Amino acid sequence: MNAETGGTPAGETGCPCSEADAHMWVFLDGELDQEHCSRIRAHIEQCAKCAERMRNDSRLKEMVARACRCEQAPPALRVWVEQQVAVWRFDAQC
Ligand SMILES: [Zn+2]
Repeated sequence: MNAETGGTPAGETGCPCSEADAHMWVFLDGELDQEHCSRIRAHIEQCAKCAERMRNDSRLKEMVARACRCEQAPPALRVWVEQQVAVWRFDAQC
């Protein structure tokens, strides 16, 4: 799904929300490089929509992590997660 990694950062040409969106999970994993990390952090401070999305994503990440600690994520949770991600991706379009 994430075909654009290592290429041109999305936010430099268009909407900064797309950049935040594109790097959100890596950012939450703490694996994003310093430059993008500080850009996203700065953006989130002034963009309520992305701040909200980050809260949702980090909650989601927690849930997935918790589910993964069990033997298997319940199928219902997986479906729910996929739906939420689809909705948020849609919302993030500018
Ligand atoms: Zn934004």
